[in-house]
Amino acid sequence: MCIYRIPSGKSIISPPSACPKCKNFIKWYDNIPFLSFILLKGRCRKCGNKISLRYPIVELLTGMLFILFFLKFGLEKTYFFYIIIAGYLITLAFIDIDKQIVPDEIILLMIITGFAAGIFELRQGINIFDGLIGAGAGGFIALCLNYFSNGKMGEGDVKLFAALGLFTGAREITGIMFYAFIIGGVFAAVLLASGKSSRKDPVAFVPFIAAAFILRAFIFH
Ligand SMILES: [Zn+2]
Repeated sequence: MCIYRIPSGKSIISPPSACPKCKNFIKWYDNIPFLSFILLKGRCRKCGNKISLRYPIVELLTGMLFILFFLKFGLEKTYFFYIIIAGYLITLAFIDIDKQIVPDEIILLMIITGFAAGIFELRQGINIFDGLIGAGAGGFIALCLNYFSNGKMGEGDVKLFAALGLFTGAREITGIMFYAFIIGGVFAAVLLASGKSSRKDPVAFVPFIAAAFILRAFIFH
């Protein structure tokens, strides 16, 4: 819902979700992540309009990821550190794929949560001071890349690296950046080799940042 509403400036609190075709509001029991899609066989209860496959896919992906984080970290502070950021990154990744933007509203929310994460030291050993250094490091390196790549790496990515650095500290944000470029590079090479894209096609970069963050959570933590 956030992926769809935030880029077009709509409120995520009201109105409640409605079918895009018949405009009927969706009852809570038809709005249970993933489960409702299966029970309704992918169609609106009122008019039978097909529900986008995007919803159950994102819900399943997020749900499985949260379970994996739980299995790895238990209900510790680290668990909340990872699900909060993964929630932001999954939302931003799909918005980037759709519209090639990184909404400032989400960055702002990330910064506020990032300070809170520092206060509670959600990530062990990263307090507000470490976070601010991480934000500076992430933002500065990304800004240089933005400058020297003639904007190929967008300003949105720069903001995201700064906000993400606030959570992770300097060391991890440089690691995430490095991994994001490797994963993105491999992906681009495969696409080019298979002839599915040309060098000029715009590429959303946030999905690779998200992949790098998640991958490192399981490899290095
Ligand atoms: Zn409908």
